[in-house]
Amino acid sequence: MPIRLRITLATTGLMIIALAALGTGMYITMSSSLHNDMDSRLRLVYESYVKNPGAWYAQGQVRVLVPNTDPFTQTGAFIQITDERGEVLDRSDNLSQETVPVTVTVLDRNANFETVIYDTKIDGDPIRVLSGRLETQSGNLIAFVQVAEPRHQLNATLGTLKRNIIWGSVFSTLMLASGAWLVGDAVMRPLARMSNTARSIGRTGDLSQRLQPPKTHDEAQQLGETFNEMLARLEETFNAQRRFVADASHELRTPLTALRANADIMLRQIESGIYDRDDLAEGLTDVRDEVDRMTRLVQHLLTLARADVGWRPELEPVDLVDAARDAARVATPLVRGQQFEIELPPPGPDGHSPDVDVRGNADQLRQLMLILLDNAFTYAPAGSDVRLAVALDDDQAILSVHDNGPGIAPDHLRRIFERFFRTDDARARSSGGTGLGLAIARWIVAVHNGQITADSTPGEGTTFKVRLPLLPPEADSSRIRNDAVKATPTS
Ligand code: ADP
Repeated sequence: MPIRLRITLATTGLMIIALAALGTGMYITMSSSLHNDMDSRLRLVYESYVKNPGAWYAQGQVRVLVPNTDPFTQTGAFIQITDERGEVLDRSDNLSQETVPVTVTVLDRNANFETVIYDTKIDGDPIRVLSGRLETQSGNLIAFVQVAEPRHQLNATLGTLKRNIIWGSVFSTLMLASGAWLVGDAVMRPLARMSNTARSIGRTGDLSQRLQPPKTHDEAQQLGETFNEMLARLEETFNAQRRFVADASHELRTPLTALRANADIMLRQIESGIYDRDDLAEGLTDVRDEVDRMTRLVQHLLTLARADVGWRPELEPVDLVDAARDAARVATPLVRGQQFEIELPPPGPDGHSPDVDVRGNADQLRQLMLILLDNAFTYAPAGSDVRLAVALDDDQAILSVHDNGPGIAPDHLRRIFERFFRTDDARARSSGGTGLGLAIARWIVAVHNGQITADSTPGEGTTFKVRLPLLPPEADSSRIRNDAVKATPTS
C-alpha cells in the first residue's frame, strides 16, 4: 500500500476515534446537564407545592386544590394528584383532560418515601415526571403528586447537538483526509522522483547521474544529499578501479612484449642453427629482468588490491631503530655507488639509545623504508649521499630518507603518491620501477596512523619524511627489550 494512502488512512482513523470520543463525551455531558436542570425544576415545583398546605388542604378535610403554576418560575409544569391506585383526583388547568401516566410500582415507591423521576408520554408527546408523596402537616399520607414537564425542548436541543456533532465530525474528517492526502503527495513526490532517478542509475549503471534533493531542509533533502555523496564516492572508487585495471594491464603488457620478442629472437637463432652464446645469454638476462619486473609489479598489485578490500596488517609495538637497521641491511645490495649512511638517535648518558617505539607492523615498516631507499638508489647518481634517519620529535617518531639525486619537479611532486605515476624521466631510464612504490608507501603510513611528505629541490635532492605516533611509555612494557643491540648503532 502506498505510504501516502497509509498516512491518509492512519490520520483519518485517528481523527475518527478522537472525534467519536470527543462527540460522545460532549453529548453525554450536555444531556446530563440538561436532565439535571429539568430534574431540579421538577423538584422545585414539587417542593414548593407540597410545602404550601393552603393550596390543597382546607378546613381539616382532604381537598385538593391545584394552583395554576406561575409561568415565570414553573414554566410549562403540569401538576396532577392521584390516589394510591393512580386514579386522578385533580390536575392543573394546563393538563386539560390529559392524564400524566403513573404506575402502581411508582406509587408504591412513593409510599415508601421515595421520590421517583421517570420519562413517559402524554398523547405521544414525551414528558419527564417527578412523582412524590402528599402529606398532612403531621406527616400522614393523603395522596400522590406528579409534577411533569414536556421534553420536546430538551429532546430538540439534544437532537440538534447530536446532528451538529455528527456533521461537524464528518466534515472535519473529510477535510483532514484531503489535507493528509495533499500533504502526503507533497512529501512523497520528491521521494518518488529521487527513487526514479536511483532506479535509472541502477539500470544504466551511470554513476555520474545525481538525484535532485528538494530544498525543504528536512529528512527528504538529507536523504537525497546523503545518496548523492554516496554516488560521488562510488563513482570515484569505480573510476579509480577502472584506471587501476587499465594501468595494470598496460604495465604488464610491456614486460610481456619484451619477453615475447626475446623468445622470438632466441627461437629464430636456434631454428637457423646459427646462434651466438653471448646473444643468448643477453636474451636470457633480459628475460630474467623482465620476469623480476613482472614479479615486483604483481606483488605491488597484490598489496594494493588487498589494501583496497580493507586488509590491514596486525600492529604491535615495534622499535623503529631495529626496523631501520633491518631495512638498511636488506637495502645495502641495492646501493649503486652512493654513500649510504644510517643516522639513529644519539645514545643517552647511560650509553643506551632512546626507545623509538611505535605501534606498527615490522614487515610493513621495513617494506616502507625499502621502497624509499630503492627509489633513492635508483634515481640518485653514484657518488651522491643517501641517508636513512630515525629521530624523535615530541610524541612522534620521524623516519626520513634523504638523497642528493636529481630531485622532483613541483608539478610531479604533487602526483608521485598516485598509483602508476612515474615521471617521463623515470620511464625513459627504464629503471624497473612500477609507479606503485610510493602509493604502497602512502598506504603503509596511513594504516600506521602516520603522515608522509616529500620535499624536493630539483637538482639538489629529495627528502621523504614519515611521522608516526610514538607509543606511550606504559604500552611499551610488553615489547621484548634488547638494549645490548640498541647500544651499538651501526651507521
Ligand atoms: P617507481 O617504481 O617508478 O619508483 P614510485 O611510486 O616509487 O614508482 O615513484 C613514483 C615516481 O616518483 C618515480 O617514477 C620517480 O619519477 C619519482 N621519484 C620517487 N622517488 C624519487 C627520488 N628519490 N628522486 C627522484 N624521483 C623520485
